[in-house]
Amino acid sequence: MKNSWSNKIAKKYIKKYEKLGFSADLAVRIYTTRLLGRNKELVLHGGGNTSVKTTIKDIDGKKYSVLCVKGSGWDMADIEPPGLPAVKLEPLLSLKNKKYLSDENMVAYQKRNLIDIKSPNPSVETFLHAFLPFKYVDHTHADAVLNVTNRPGGSNFCKKIFGNKVSIVPYVMPGFMLAKKIYEIYSKNPKINCLILMNHGIFTFANDCKEAYDLMIKYVSKAEKAVKKLKSKKIKQIKEYPTKFNPYEIAPIIRGLLSENKDEKFIINYRLNKHLKYFINGQNVRTYTSKGTATPDHVIRVKPFPLIITPKKNSTIEEFKNTAKKAFVAYRKKYIQYFNINKSKVKGKKVMLDTSPRIILVQNVGMFSVGKDLHAARIAGDLTETNAKVIASVEETSTYKFIPEKDFFDVEYWSLEQAKIRRKKKLLEGNVVVITGSTGTIGFETYKTFKSYGAEVVLLDNNLVRLREVQSKIKDLCIHCDVTNKKSIKKAFKQICEKFGGIDILISNAGIAPGGAIAEVSDEILRESFEINFFAHQNCASEAIKIMKKQNINGCLLFNISKQSVNPGKNFGPYGLPKSALLSLCKQYAIDYGSYGIRSNGVNADRIKSGLMTDKMIKTRAKARSVTTDDYMKGNLLLNEVKAEDVAKAFFHLAISKKTTGAVLTVDGGNIAASLR
Ligand SMILES: [Zn+2]
Repeated sequence: MKNSWSNKIAKKYIKKYEKLGFSADLAVRIYTTRLLGRNKELVLHGGGNTSVKTTIKDIDGKKYSVLCVKGSGWDMADIEPPGLPAVKLEPLLSLKNKKYLSDENMVAYQKRNLIDIKSPNPSVETFLHAFLPFKYVDHTHADAVLNVTNRPGGSNFCKKIFGNKVSIVPYVMPGFMLAKKIYEIYSKNPKINCLILMNHGIFTFANDCKEAYDLMIKYVSKAEKAVKKLKSKKIKQIKEYPTKFNPYEIAPIIRGLLSENKDEKFIINYRLNKHLKYFINGQNVRTYTSKGTATPDHVIRVKPFPLIITPKKNSTIEEFKNTAKKAFVAYRKKYIQYFNINKSKVKGKKVMLDTSPRIILVQNVGMFSVGKDLHAARIAGDLTETNAKVIASVEETSTYKFIPEKDFFDVEYWSLEQAKIRRKKKLLEGNVVVITGSTGTIGFETYKTFKSYGAEVVLLDNNLVRLREVQSKIKDLCIHCDVTNKKSIKKAFKQICEKFGGIDILISNAGIAPGGAIAEVSDEILRESFEINFFAHQNCASEAIKIMKKQNINGCLLFNISKQSVNPGKNFGPYGLPKSALLSLCKQYAIDYGSYGIRSNGVNADRIKSGLMTDKMIKTRAKARSVTTDDYMKGNLLLNEVKAEDVAKAFFHLAISKKTTGAVLTVDGGNIAASLR
């Protein structure tokens, strides 16, 4: 493993953070914490932690010895000083001889000894860091270390590899008891500079920051070399065979099967690469994936075991659906059994979590990782890639061996681990929303509204320049799509299914607003308007329905219809006619797909300043009516201008009105001539 330390960069860190009022101690701590955190073979998604013992002046003017230790919710890769909250060291050390401390008391005690009460919760390994009498303590879940510990005879193997300045610690669940165990081991061997924690990870420590980091790299390299020297044999693979479907075609089926009820939705993310393929297509995949993960805390993200599906040779989508259904039933049963067997073996009363898998491995197809949102699904995927590498490598040289199931269960159901992923559910969490015409004023306001309620929002638009500009500002998926072209829509929806697993809410919003007296307007203009203002909606809705039916977890179509559909304006026929047809289309979808739980509703908005209704257009219209532009915009019963955000809110309300279909919501400030009868 490469040592990435640079004196020059370390100095830069010291300079930068001193300017911001932080000590050199903390500055170099930030530097090596990031070095460790950015190496995926050492640390993944909040795995590992680091600390530094230093002094801090509190508001009473006194200097206190503190332990700055990684706080929960921070990633080592981009840690900043607030990510290393300072805990007063003396109170921590005073518990060295305490026999037992409950988790609740441990968390409370750590919290009330923080210098800044607003800091994040200090790591669950805080006491361990405190008890080791070194200025710098580094902890990672290095792949190579797990590779040598997670095998039969791992402990003896480690003794040979690491030498006499290292102690090998048998597995103990993280928390206060592990801290005590470590302290006891250290007290007996005060010359050590490293601890190998069986089936968990590695600690290195020194009074110098660089030295602690150097030790980490040195010992991990030793583990790497030891594995390389072992006799190795490739894992036996299943035969490759074709299926009659693509990953994006089965993703909505899997997504639907994940939901135990139709309101509980998950995001699933598809991926495949050389390493994953090798792991998934192993003949013994069911055996080696049932033994656990590489390190225990992965369990909260990926569950104790993945769901494995082996499609039949030349399987059709329908056949896959049947195979998958059975596999899901078996998985849920197995999980319930696992819960019932282990709940009585651990301390405390446990309530079963949901029984849906977080990792689905489809042989000869790839991995689908699952989460409450895309972020969680991706984390589960990343952790599984690491688990796959470690487990496959051990299987090439030995047989994978992990902690007993009961201990693994204990971590999965540990309140402190669950606290890491538990947060308040947002109203639209787990929903995939697709907006067409998304870079326009109404489209983008709608994006912001749905996003704020926790949905995954995909932005479609045909204007490449505007789309690129939007994409440069936001991280959400933006897809260039011509909604008048079925192929273009299919391509976009394929991408959405691979990344999110399907679609729940389609907001069919794209449109144009051509005018002209109806007897004189050219066929070309009229047909073009029908293409965009009617057929494009039909194109998107019909493709979305295919996906929603496969998912079978309800769905929602929302159309931007316009008041023109019920109250045509003079010389506005080319716009109003297809919009009238669109109103009928909206109702037709409500009739034809209501029994599938798919709702279809629309918004009738009027006079919204947007790409369709430009300042120039507003001026002309106001002039024609001999009023000011301001009065024109407020020309409604409420005498109040209607804005794009009002339309966005209307879309949102229709999306959450679970018992409403075939309805049109008017957003025009009140216009009795346009009110629906
Ligand atoms: Zn750890």
